[in-house]
Amino acid sequence: MRPVNESDIRASFVNCSKGEAKRLGLPRDPDERPWDDLDFLGWRDPGAPERAYLVTERDGRLVGVALRVTSGAQRAFTSRSMCSLCLTTHTSGGVALMTARRTGEAGRQGNTVGQYLCADLACSLYARGKREAAGGGLVDESLTPEEKVARVRANLYSFLDKVAG
Ligand SMILES: [Zn+2]
Repeated sequence: MRPVNESDIRASFVNCSKGEAKRLGLPRDPDERPWDDLDFLGWRDPGAPERAYLVTERDGRLVGVALRVTSGAQRAFTSRSMCSLCLTTHTSGGVALMTARRTGEAGRQGNTVGQYLCADLACSLYARGKREAAGGGLVDESLTPEEKVARVRANLYSFLDKVAG
């Protein structure tokens, strides 16, 4: 994706209020992000680790989604979990359940969409083989990096569709 600046990011959020978007903690290292290798910019709020965000470009528009990281033992600590975007498997802690408030009336009624995502939101890098999951890895290694990237994007867009419902 193309590099984006702070005001682009803050204006992109579809599922939180303008006030929340104004206050949320941006990544500390925007200039060091490997933009060419990103399908989306994802980060944990430096001041509030239970909050995470992702911003991506779709049809030439930036779309940002605010997420809540649900900690807690949904799964046994010994088991592996798989990210639903990039399908990388991680050992305990490498995947987190993140929920997004839906947009519009559904969101006002408290409806959310949950997904298991790489806890570091670095799916783009796992798909490209630029980051390795500790003790895990991709289950299906027969895909080319291009195919994995296409899969990340397809899964991401279907998540965005669910959020926008
Ligand atoms: Zn992932």
